[in-house]
Amino acid sequence: MPAQLISGRDIAATIREEIRERVAALKESAGRVPGLATVLVGDDPASQLYVGMKKKAALAAGIHSQQIQLPGDTPQDELLGVVHGLNANPEIHGILVQLPLPDHIDEQAVLVAVDPAKDVDGFHPVNVGKLSTGALDVLAPCTPWGVVQMLLRTGNDPSGKHVVVVGRSNIVGRPMASLLLRRGRGGDATVTVAHSRTPDLPRVTREADILIVAVGRPDTVTADMVKPGAVVIDVGTNRVDAPDTERGYRVVGDVDFEAVKEVAGWITPVPGGVGPMTIAMLLSNTVDAFTASLDRD
Ligand code: NDP
Repeated sequence: MPAQLISGRDIAATIREEIRERVAALKESAGRVPGLATVLVGDDPASQLYVGMKKKAALAAGIHSQQIQLPGDTPQDELLGVVHGLNANPEIHGILVQLPLPDHIDEQAVLVAVDPAKDVDGFHPVNVGKLSTGALDVLAPCTPWGVVQMLLRTGNDPSGKHVVVVGRSNIVGRPMASLLLRRGRGGDATVTVAHSRTPDLPRVTREADILIVAVGRPDTVTADMVKPGAVVIDVGTNRVDAPDTERGYRVVGDVDFEAVKEVAGWITPVPGGVGPMTIAMLLSNTVDAFTASLDRD
């Protein structure tokens, strides 16, 4: 029987509606709303698109949104000055510096400059460290945090399950493993992390009750690599040539969707799977950062 589809589009829409209601209630009780600032350096069209989508989603949820656009040749010190200004701005509770930054800017220096309490991307070393030591009161990176929500909201609680994560990047694979290892809801899994140096990857993936793939290469996971009934989460986002389409390309994941859906119990599509969850969790982190700031006041 084909797998059940996990629609990130639907789950993200539900979460965004919950956030809208939460923000409206906070406006009533606290008299203020959360604020999200996005900082974009340069005019990369993809980054402009992402920042625009984030702003639109924030406004739809009732979150105050400030978009700062800087020229591509902005000196690093000037960018750091902007970040420090946002750190000190009481109307802003979440700061997102859109990556990648131009080559002349040290990305790490900028990420470290963001106040960890406003680091809604979850990339600051303080938050990375807290997450990897199992802290629950932490702003977690949006994509893996979104994957946890997808599992919980489809009744696929990872507790006690063997989860295999393919990919060990700082933005997906590693924080994914840390989240799943935490004690408590959304965690308590037995986690294996595989990567390009893992010998006999199919043997490892076939052991997964839940298989999470974040590699960046189409067809990395084929049907023979999946245990029957497993939950398959495809984080990959790849453009492949499709001369027959208007755009000339299609977006596909890392999993051979058509074949794997005949074996898996649950599966995420691409597009419409993990992708929409990332922005929803960015908004969720912004509201969490805001409520934490109220607790500190
Ligand atoms: P990276 O390139 O940073 O990491 C890829 C990981 O995959 C590495 O750990 C690498 O191993 C591993 N890998 C590469 N080839 C193989 C292989 N043949 N077998 C096993 N492991 C392999 O990518 P990201 O983590 O940043 O992104 C992964 C994918 O997820 C991309 O397609 C990206 O576009 C997508 N993505 C989607 C998001 C969303 O919102 N939906 C958000 C973020 C990412 P090694 O470390 O040994 O090199």
